[in-house]
Amino acid sequence: MKGLLPLRRALAACLLSVLALLFCPAPNHAETPPASVPSTDRAALLAGYAAEIRRIQATGELPIIDVEHHWGGKLELSALLDRMDRNGVALTWLGQNEKHGSAHALADAAKYPGRIVPATIHGDGPRWHGRDMTLLDELAADAKTGRYFALGEFEARHYVSSTNSRDVHLPVDSPSFEAVFRIAEETGLPLLLHHEAEDALLPELERMLTAHPKAQVIWCHVGRNRNRSTWTRLPTPDGVREFLRKYPNLSFDLNQAKPGSRHRGTNQVDAVLYDSDPSKGGDNQPDARLNANWLALLEEFPEHFVIGTDVNTGRFDDYTRVVETFRRLVLARLTKAAAERIAYKNAWKLMSGEEWK
Ligand SMILES: [Zn+2]
Repeated sequence: MKGLLPLRRALAACLLSVLALLFCPAPNHAETPPASVPSTDRAALLAGYAAEIRRIQATGELPIIDVEHHWGGKLELSALLDRMDRNGVALTWLGQNEKHGSAHALADAAKYPGRIVPATIHGDGPRWHGRDMTLLDELAADAKTGRYFALGEFEARHYVSSTNSRDVHLPVDSPSFEAVFRIAEETGLPLLLHHEAEDALLPELERMLTAHPKAQVIWCHVGRNRNRSTWTRLPTPDGVREFLRKYPNLSFDLNQAKPGSRHRGTNQVDAVLYDSDPSKGGDNQPDARLNANWLALLEEFPEHFVIGTDVNTGRFDDYTRVVETFRRLVLARLTKAAAERIAYKNAWKLMSGEEWK
């Protein structure tokens, strides 16, 4: 009986939309084994997503695809759509927490089929960190249905954050990640990775990038430095450049922290993307600017950076600030071509497998 309500809701949503008619989701992974989606259905979804991007383009605003959103399902989805509308965010890759399961994203996407892009669960819960391999079997089955457009964010090393206290480390070269990298390679779906960029933790990631050259990896939150004594290599434009030259399928989403803000764990200024004066504090940091070396890197490799808000329920009120920071301090400083790539064209290519036309 428990499964009937979401099923009825999902069916009603399907009837409400021409696109959703082509995309009637399985509301519960455990009850309804996923079936592969005919390619026409995926094509119809992509046509709907493209239409929304063009609609925003027509208003003169730069559309954004948010590739990293942690949806706990505690808020009304309409609240997220409202924030997206106000901020020119065309599409959101909506990842689910482990408790919900990936199929939850399908029901959400069916309510707003041109706006919400289903992503699988995030690797952030007790099953993932407890190395429950049945979770990986489920993920593989879900990913192969063709109904999802991205995998995760999956956590390797994770420090305490502003909204949770997970101090954990599931190594990138563990059997769990081996399974996820393989799924990414087999399906072509982009894999979002959370890994703290300590020097000592880079080799485990490099081993995997070398072993899985076809996996499209988005390493989240680049331009962050949470510890100046143990993070010396990666959080610099030169370190990122070295990685991009070595690993052509690697992309980064940009650090979402506001200029001058400090990491809760180490009390060090988190966002090294910007030159700012932390003593001035406050939300606006009117003098903050994109650091010239980071700007040069973004212009040199515009095809390897994307925008993710990293918003979750606890940070929901921060949504507009995050997008405004990216628009004002990053996108507005770039050439038009680089800004378009980073705002939506790269994400489009990662989710569709094709260049934006
Ligand atoms: Zn993260």
